[in-house]
Amino acid sequence: MGAAEVVVCSAKGCRDSALHALLWNNPSLHTPQRRKVWLACDAHREHLEEFLGLRGFLDRTVPVEQIPEDAG
Ligand SMILES: [Zn+2]
Repeated sequence: MGAAEVVVCSAKGCRDSALHALLWNNPSLHTPQRRKVWLACDAHREHLEEFLGLRGFLDRTVPVEQIPEDAG
């Protein structure tokens, strides 16, 4: 992810810059190694973590600069 790239929060209707990246995996759709990424601003991080966490999909949250190369 390039430094000039604008990274916007994934929450519906939110246009804030994302600071956090939630790495997640849905075992019924994705192979175990696969990591999907949701981006979150400070205001939405907790909400999105809870959404994924309740479903058992959340792996971990990292700063947007630290999104793994193979995630997406
Ligand atoms: Zn947001």
